[in-house]
Amino acid sequence: MAAKIISGTEIAAQIREELKKEVAEIKEKHGVVPGLVTILIGENPASISYVTGKQKTAKELGFHSIQDNQPENISEEELLRLVEKYNNDPTIHGILVQLPLPKHINEKKVLNAVDPDKDVDCFHPVNVGRLMIGGGEAKFLPCTPAGIQELIVRSGIETSGAEVVVVGRSNIVGKPIANIMLQKGRGANSTVTIVHTGTKDLASHCRRADILIVAAGVPGLVKPEWIRPGSCVIDVGVNRVGEKMSEKTGKMVPILKGDVDFDAAKEIAGAITPVPGGVGPMTITMLMKNTVKSAKLAAGIK
Ligand code: NAP
Repeated sequence: MAAKIISGTEIAAQIREELKKEVAEIKEKHGVVPGLVTILIGENPASISYVTGKQKTAKELGFHSIQDNQPENISEEELLRLVEKYNNDPTIHGILVQLPLPKHINEKKVLNAVDPDKDVDCFHPVNVGRLMIGGGEAKFLPCTPAGIQELIVRSGIETSGAEVVVVGRSNIVGKPIANIMLQKGRGANSTVTIVHTGTKDLASHCRRADILIVAAGVPGLVKPEWIRPGSCVIDVGVNRVGEKMSEKTGKMVPILKGDVDFDAAKEIAGAITPVPGGVGPMTITMLMKNTVKSAKLAAGIK
């Protein structure tokens, strides 16, 4: 039987509707409006497109949102001062510095300057540490991994006691999702294995997985025969494998493929995310969720 397709597009839309209601409610009851600033340095087209998407969603949800564009030649000191300004601005609850930064700026220094209580991307070491400690310590979860967990939970996949295998150990996907899934609690409590380029037999680990989360950035890395029949497969990979003409706009657009051979895998798995339309739409949505949480925490709203 073909797998259930886990639509990130639909689940993200559902969460955005919930957030819209929550934003309206906290505004009406408490006079609190979540505030998000996105800081963009330079004119990298991909960064402009990401930031535009974030701002558009923030506006749709009723946030107070600021798009702060700075020139490519801004000094590190000036950028640090700007971050400090937003750290001290009570109308701002989330600060996002769009990466990558120009080479003359120390990325780590800038990310570490963001107030951990406004670090809605969850890149600050304090928030990474809180996530690791678990037990309710984490104020925010990093956006892509949090989105993955939501996809799993909202699709009714049992996580407690499940064998979760994560392919990839990056700081933005692999390590944090592994950490989230091993915590004691709802939507987690799994037995987690992380595999990477140093792993001896990738296939045998993948075959054990009840939930296989793949974030390697290698198109078609996971072969259909590595998938345990009936398992849940979350494909985080987004790989540009070519270009095609868009029927809507007539412009050339990238052809995107995941790390899993989707067509073959969907005949074996019990549930699977497509690429695009799987994990992708969840990331911005979870950023918005973190900003609403930050605003509520700042105002002492339960
Ligand atoms: P990354 O920093 O390049 O990390 C890739 C990880 O995969 C590394 O740990 C690497 O192992 C491992 N890996 C690579 N090739 C492998 C192989 N042949 N066998 C086993 N392990 C292998 O990538 P990332 O930032 O985590 O992103 C991964 C993918 O997810 C990319 O396609 C990216 O575009 C996508 N992504 C999507 C979203 C989204 O949809 N919102 C967000 C973030 C990332 P080593 O550590 O041993 O090198």
